Amino acid sequence: MNQAIDALRALLSQPQLIVITMHRDPDADALGSSLGWALYLRRQGHQVTVISPTDYPANLRWLPGMETVLVYEENAASRKICQQHIEKADLICCLDFSALSRLKDLGKLVQDAKATKLLVDHHLEPESFADLMVWDTGAAATAQLIYQVIKKLDPALFADARDIPLAECLYAGIMTDTGSFRHASTTPEVHLAVADLMRTGFEINRVHRLIFDSSPLSRLQLLGHALSKIHVLHEYRTSYMTLTAADLELYTSSAGDTDGLVNYGLQVEDVVMTALFVERRGEVKISFRSAGDFSVRDLAHAHFGGGGHKNASGGRTSLSLAETVQRFLAVLPEYQSRLQSV
Ligand code: 5GP
Ligand code: MN
Repeated sequence: MNQAIDALRALLSQPQLIVITMHRDPDADALGSSLGWALYLRRQGHQVTVISPTDYPANLRWLPGMETVLVYEENAASRKICQQHIEKADLICCLDFSALSRLKDLGKLVQDAKATKLLVDHHLEPESFADLMVWDTGAAATAQLIYQVIKKLDPALFADARDIPLAECLYAGIMTDTGSFRHASTTPEVHLAVADLMRTGFEINRVHRLIFDSSPLSRLQLLGHALSKIHVLHEYRTSYMTLTAADLELYTSSAGDTDGLVNYGLQVEDVVMTALFVERRGEVKISFRSAGDFSVRDLAHAHFGGGGHKNASGGRTSLSLAETVQRFLAVLPEYQSRLQSV
């Protein structure tokens, strides 16, 4: 981290053209860390463009600076503008992902760009495309790493209300990635970082309500529908849910509507692993969650071309929904003893 900070400090001593990008289907950590970093860099006099590969959830629209975010795949014009920004950038910051495939079509543009590349991430096993890396799998969120970076660059931050927008962005990322401070990743350092952010005087309750208590009714009905057909496999201490393209259409689901839904599968007693299979745009997106020492990162990586963290991972297949579930069921015996010993 210190080496990267020294290099960054030197690089940022002159005004730079900077692009910040994040993983596809961005969540509050991807967007919160990106927008927080953008706020900080703009204040230092840099020209910053934030690019999301895909559309983002409606409950994150309030994040400070969101109106400046370009969505790469929105239309031909946005693709062109994003491409131009990437080609002329001095620095490209890759936040909350470690494999270029997580950028979809944007990955190739970033790979080919002449810019210096900075990776800030907490996922396992980064690819080696970045020149500078702030990478710590022990961090609860990328927003926590951005907090550490900007505190090193400017220790005086967060002393007053001037930094409320920055604090809200980083808090949104840390709070959601720790599951509201309940995952094992919630260390004393996490609480100390949040305590520091709170010195600005931002309203914690407002952020929680904006993120969690602002769902369209259809999203809650989609949740109810998914829960009503949950499968529990007691012999594997596993549960899973499926959503078909028709389900999503029936509940007029939009970007982010299925985020967080997978976590409900872990609330079933004695269940230590759960999966959610969502059929969308000709592919099946899978989310895995686990408790304790069982690694869903390894399962996602070995069988579904995915990755993530030990207790939260994802992947995707181009198989049908039924075939994807069949594959999942077929690999479970391989993991039975590990699931039993959690
Ligand atoms: P979610 O289930 O919330 O989409 O993702 C859970 C975790 O797994 C996140 O940390 C996310 O970055 C990671 N993840 C989700 N989908 C994929 C994927 O297709 N590939 C990889 N490498 N990681 C993924
Ligand atoms: Mn994250």
